Amino acid sequence: MTRSWSNYHTPATVDEALALLQRYGGSARVIGGGTDLLVETRRGLRRPFEAMVDASRIKGLDSISQDDNYIVIGCGVTHTMIVNDSRIIRHGTCLAESCGVIGGPQVRNTGTLAGNVAHALPAGDGTIGLLALGGEVEIAARGGTRWMPAKDTFLGPGKSVIDRQQEVLTRLRFKPTGRSEGSAFHRVMRPQGLCLPIISMAVRLRLDEDNTVGAAGIGMGPVGPVPWFAEPVIAALLGEPASAAQFANAAEVALDNVTLRTSKYRATEEYRKAMIRTYLPMILIRAAQRAGAAR
Ligand SMILES: Cc1cc2nc3c(=O)[nH]c(=O)nc-3n(C[C@H](O)[C@H](O)[C@H](O)COP(=O)(O)OP(=O)(O)OC[C@H]3O[C@@H](n4cnc5c(N)ncnc54)[C@H](O)[C@@H]3O)c2cc1C
Repeated sequence: MTRSWSNYHTPATVDEALALLQRYGGSARVIGGGTDLLVETRRGLRRPFEAMVDASRIKGLDSISQDDNYIVIGCGVTHTMIVNDSRIIRHGTCLAESCGVIGGPQVRNTGTLAGNVAHALPAGDGTIGLLALGGEVEIAARGGTRWMPAKDTFLGPGKSVIDRQQEVLTRLRFKPTGRSEGSAFHRVMRPQGLCLPIISMAVRLRLDEDNTVGAAGIGMGPVGPVPWFAEPVIAALLGEPASAAQFANAAEVALDNVTLRTSKYRATEEYRKAMIRTYLPMILIRAAQRAGAAR
């Protein structure tokens, strides 16, 4: 079997990781669980790297924490850890649900949310859950560290503003859902065989006292070249009643703004449209019910 690297490093600090990346001058690559990267290199989809710099063993970045404003997820945190975290189950439900559908147990035990976001694939499930929550990512580079909205990191399929040869996505964070807030995720997929999503959607809602939508976040994919933060749909919902009619209208607004291709691995365009019409209103209702229960 062809080796995907010549040297494998497990830095203990972010500075050490950045120094290693600099030393290799672009011929090293950051790796998390390797569930995407190693599959790609072994399939010959990308050239082997001179070195892998493993971000999953950096001290202090292998856990989930909560401060006054955010739930913070280190880049070494696996999908399984997210799925089992009681704070995320309660206050970031759509993220726990989205990470819970990724691959099988082996993939979830190894793959990280950081890797899912950094890979920038339009159908990344954890990414879609994080988008709906208004998630942010911290990027460490030699010049310093910056936080930015996750939705602004995607440049195209597999393309990210994060330079994965020189920079490390160190942490991810989102504001936990609070009073009158709820979230929900749903993925439509074939029941067996290749688990390519036909459509994945996540929603976060805050309801005002009069049961109108006070705040919203929606993530969807694959509906175009990048995971989509559905701004036109959010705009259509804000200030409107949390009703079945408005949620059905939200699905129509989504359909007006997405590009759905027929794919032999996913489904026909028509079927995928029908799934948005069916399931976007459904998860909006579910998020609204959860928001109602959190009053
Ligand atoms: C059998 C199988 C089933 C799968 N099913 C699903 C699924 O249902 N849904 C889904 O969304 N995905 C799925 N995946 C894809 C994959 O498991 C996920 O995207 C996972 O979250 C990737 O995380 P990782 O830590 O393994 O990333 P890696 O493979 O380690 O890295 C992925 C990319 O991110 C970069 N990267 C990783 N960590 C960092 C970091 N900290 N900083 C900067 N760059 C970084 C790497 O350089 C690489 O470009 C599946 C994969 C397999 C093999």
